[in-house]
Amino acid sequence: MIELKPCPFCKSEARMISAVRWLRLNGKRGRTRGLYWYVGCSDPECILYLDKELKNTRLIFLSRSRGLVVRRWNRRVE
Ligand SMILES: [Zn+2]
Repeated sequence: MIELKPCPFCKSEARMISAVRWLRLNGKRGRTRGLYWYVGCSDPECILYLDKELKNTRLIFLSRSRGLVVRRWNRRVE
């Protein structure tokens, strides 16, 4: 398990999920299907809340790389 720091806004526990999605990648035409990692907050009241079904999500941290999304999330806490 990679350790995720708590939410930078509300200090709630972070949540990470993975999902297969069709997404447009930076600098590429069309959409690419792949497994993406999402990190967010587990508190539904928080602006960084990550819904388990990825529905009520306002700001998201996602990447095809699990390590990268974890580093981005953890860096925001600093
Ligand atoms: Zn939060």
